[in-house]
Amino acid sequence: MGHIRTVLGDIEPDQLGITLTHEHIRYAYQGSDTDHQQVWSLDTLAGQVAAVLKEGREVHHIQSLVDMTPPEIGRHPELLAEVSRRSGVNIVAMTGFFPEEHAIGIPFHWRRKSPDYIADMLVRDITEGMVYDNQLTPYKAGILKAATGGTTSTELDPSKGPTPISPLEAKVICAVARAQRRTGACINTHTQPEDYAYLNPGIELLDLLERYGADLSRVIIGHSFVHPNIEQLKAIVERGACLQVDHIGIPWQNDSQESLDELIANAVCQLTDMGYLDRLVFSYDRFFSYAGSPPSAEDPPLLNEQVPVGYIFDNFAHRLEAKGFGKAEMHQVMVENPRRLIAF
Ligand SMILES: [Zn+2]
Repeated sequence: MGHIRTVLGDIEPDQLGITLTHEHIRYAYQGSDTDHQQVWSLDTLAGQVAAVLKEGREVHHIQSLVDMTPPEIGRHPELLAEVSRRSGVNIVAMTGFFPEEHAIGIPFHWRRKSPDYIADMLVRDITEGMVYDNQLTPYKAGILKAATGGTTSTELDPSKGPTPISPLEAKVICAVARAQRRTGACINTHTQPEDYAYLNPGIELLDLLERYGADLSRVIIGHSFVHPNIEQLKAIVERGACLQVDHIGIPWQNDSQESLDELIANAVCQLTDMGYLDRLVFSYDRFFSYAGSPPSAEDPPLLNEQVPVGYIFDNFAHRLEAKGFGKAEMHQVMVENPRRLIAF
């Protein structure tokens, strides 16, 4: 096995430890950077986030996390590095974009570029360093992101059904597949949870990644457990891809945390019984801060902030254990699977 590329440099796979595979150190919608109520200092924000992560490391032994925040939603390489330095938690940064419609992903500059031009940027993020505010930083990305699914049709008008993968998203997915072939990086993904009520967005995305030559055994399909449907999940792992069990403890698109956790836990155990334990990873999709943090009074409540950093270990693990999913299974899912997937 090769190495893991964190923002503070390469580490050995054995140093990865317990890993959350999809989190957000800072989540910031476009426009928040010109809001007087969101002026922030790197020193203060890094201190606040690092304190939470340090607790995660000391109490729950969280050793690493993957920050899946794309540049247009607030990826800040220096903040990631500073949080990692202060908390002692390894942070792997992503390169890629958000879905076209969801929070307006894929900035206009990139919409006009060819797949090869975009692939060059993705590769250079991984091999040279990420660019921030037109400056090359010394901090490298360690994972690719592919993203699909709008919010307009299903969130605002469920009767319309999901938006298929747009031509722009397809162009980025092509670039991501090419960047994976050049670097060997893992691809983690955003699929739109509501869309699973209409089709299988995981399969739709895998079809396209495969057509462009990606290695599906190094692809993680994210957000497919928010409305867990065992037939859909099984179809995804049967293609050779992995599943990210996320939104654990987050009452998102579901009436309560308890009932969602129970549905997720049952699906995890069913997949394990089918022999797919080596295809699962766990995460929250937690926002460790929003823009200038704390959000202003007018911001809608961000459900993704409202989960304790130790929830998987203090709460969800016990729910799984009662169903026969014990410590060895947790180790496989939280340590061994991320290590295999994220290592180059
Ligand atoms: Zn996310």
